[in-house]
Amino acid sequence: MINGPRGTKDILPDTVAQWTHVEKVIRELCARYGYREIRTPIFEHTELFLRGIGETTDVVEKEMYTFTDRGERSLTLRPENTASVVRSYLQNKLYAADALVKLFYIGSMFRYDRPQAGRYREFHQFGVEALGEENPAVDAEIIVLAVEFLRALGLQELKLHLNSVGCPKCRPVYRERLQEFFRPHLEELCTDCRSRFERNPLRLLDCKNEHCHALAEGAPRITDCLCDECRVHFTEVQSYLTAAGIPFELDANLVRGLDYYTKTAFEVKYTPLGAQSAVAGGGRYDGLVEEVGGPPTPGIGFAVGLERVLLALEKQELLPEELEAVDVFVVALGEAAQIPAFKLLHELRAAKLSAAMDFAGRSMKAQMKQANKKNARFVAILGEDEVKEASALLKDMKTSEQKKLALKDFVPALCVEVKN
Ligand code: AMP
Repeated sequence: MINGPRGTKDILPDTVAQWTHVEKVIRELCARYGYREIRTPIFEHTELFLRGIGETTDVVEKEMYTFTDRGERSLTLRPENTASVVRSYLQNKLYAADALVKLFYIGSMFRYDRPQAGRYREFHQFGVEALGEENPAVDAEIIVLAVEFLRALGLQELKLHLNSVGCPKCRPVYRERLQEFFRPHLEELCTDCRSRFERNPLRLLDCKNEHCHALAEGAPRITDCLCDECRVHFTEVQSYLTAAGIPFELDANLVRGLDYYTKTAFEVKYTPLGAQSAVAGGGRYDGLVEEVGGPPTPGIGFAVGLERVLLALEKQELLPEELEAVDVFVVALGEAAQIPAFKLLHELRAAKLSAAMDFAGRSMKAQMKQANKKNARFVAILGEDEVKEASALLKDMKTSEQKKLALKDFVPALCVEVKN
């Protein structure tokens, strides 16, 4: 027996309805907000993620599925989709059609993370990206969309954390203040944070280690170091959110450490999920398009982890239960009935009814059991007598009423019954 790789999960027929339910909400919402779907490849040149995520991030340092293909190219299974969307935006010149390009995606991402509840090695994200506009109204639109998506699914107890991480003009000043603050405590920091201290000090603020976390509580706040442009932008994002009636909490320790992340950073938490409560994260990345080789282009986006959303929905019993159901189950009794029953099955399906049949030649009782298991609304019964007369019995499973119909009239009669 070969099992699936650790950290992967099969989505079985009984749970597919939950996924399609969530996907339907995504598609309806994105259409309403004017975001169009994009589907990019699952693997890209490794270089794209090194530049698009950043070589000092945990994702790139520890979590990428990177391999060399037969043409000696280094490729990587996408650990997130923003870099791919930006690549596609540039490669396909999507900027030529519109000044503001609004895209969304749904798909698998791959990270070599330690698997646990709500954390997998293959997981699914719904994300959106808006490219080409730096106006804070776009930041607000994106944040509203993330919150409205979770609300539309019925989730309450959502917490929106909001921060600004400044820009390459004001962040260096803050970086220095942060290093000054942490320098006397270098020895107390975890190994990861000690290496972050020089390379990516903002990441010291969101370390999960208890001691680092406690120290970070007293660190200087980036919002006290913002340049005028970033400060005004941040204030305006807040005004737009307030206008849309979206409550938020300012969280000075919510950071993204890299230079191309600018201004707005946000996260949506669903508190009952505990350790894995972060369901959505996003922010502005006005330096990313350039980093990937394009002209200076502002951008902002977010990604939602769909497994976590489903966990939250399950906790709240908000998931639709989809029972397998067919319009009609065809029961064939005896050798002679098999081919006429198969023909009827085919005609029912051709008439756009859902129809099922047991192909194992079991007893009447066993076939009726199957019909019940499939929640058949009607049953068509063909025994030897019916075959001789070119007829079939139609049984209404709700009322248990039964009537005989000529085979030639069977499908049209059933279509009428199903519609009633
Ligand atoms: P990120 O791309 O790291 O900002 O993550 C965005 C969202 O994706 C998070 O808020 C999580 O909901 C989800 N996510 C990230 N990593 C994983 C993982 N390994 N397994 C499941 N969901 C994840």
